[in-house]
Amino acid sequence: MSNPLPENHSFSLAQRQSDALLNRLPENQSFSLAQRQSDALLNRCSYIGRFAPSPTGPLHFGSLLTAVASYCDAKANHGKWLVRIEDTDIPRIYPNSEAHILACIDAFQFEPDGEIIFQKDRLDIYEQVLEQLKSSQAIYACQCTRKMLGSNHIYAGTCRNLHLDFAQQAIRLKVTDQPICFEDRLQGQQCSNLEYELGDFVLKRRDGIISYQLAVVVDDYLQAITHVVRGADLLDNTARQIWLGSLLDYPLLSYMHLPLAMNEQGQKLSKQNLAQALDISKAPTLLQHAILALGQPQVELDQPRVMLQQAVQQWDANLIPKGHQLTGIYQ
Ligand SMILES: [Zn+2]
Repeated sequence: MSNPLPENHSFSLAQRQSDALLNRLPENQSFSLAQRQSDALLNRCSYIGRFAPSPTGPLHFGSLLTAVASYCDAKANHGKWLVRIEDTDIPRIYPNSEAHILACIDAFQFEPDGEIIFQKDRLDIYEQVLEQLKSSQAIYACQCTRKMLGSNHIYAGTCRNLHLDFAQQAIRLKVTDQPICFEDRLQGQQCSNLEYELGDFVLKRRDGIISYQLAVVVDDYLQAITHVVRGADLLDNTARQIWLGSLLDYPLLSYMHLPLAMNEQGQKLSKQNLAQALDISKAPTLLQHAILALGQPQVELDQPRVMLQQAVQQWDANLIPKGHQLTGIYQ
């Protein structure tokens, strides 16, 4: 029996369109940012976590580990767990992967606290934050082409003092020569010097795509996130996010970077490495494997909701294997 609820869909579309129209008015824009910021402050509680997948491919076992760990850690700490779809990199969005993500959240019976948000609906907000950074001269336009940058991974600051017009250019954030350190709950103390390791980095690409770094930092703040639990492949990004957050006066978050599930070839599970999409019909078995891979006590096979409840009761983050990779082989 199909029940597509067409009225509901068109209502929500009309609502979004009217919101979008409202947001296009410049006065309203700054009002809406201020409003969102004050909401974020009000909503700040002791633990708000999130699961933030990118729809660049279907969810795989590695994504399930992040979902389970972020969920159990939030719930075991009497916190909230939010879901955010990180879809600003429109050219890399993989057909139907968004639908697969939503179907998995349903099938594994995760219960997000609040509406799922989509970053592609929030581009106006990121633009407002860029304006804020522009007025404090924290960013500048860069005209370097990929060819000019070559294979050098450290940007030399070539355009920093050229004062180029922002239109049609990449936008970079200035970094300074200072260590940025944080204590990861699993990986211990981490320090980086962005000037030596990276140089001024891109917040908006020449083609207009908002960078992952900018969208993550802004949304973690506006959603009042306090705790980030995600894969160790994102450990490298954290210093950039802390730096950007500090320039915007956002509070520092707690971080826990999970060891990655590796395949037979010693590669992390990813769409590029042909990781299997999560099979919804095997949700209980996959959930059981994920809980064990995270070093947690066994849970009995049951409805996923019941299994998650048991996993939350038994949750002990100290039992998660340390290091950047799990020792088992996954597919
Ligand atoms: Zn440049």
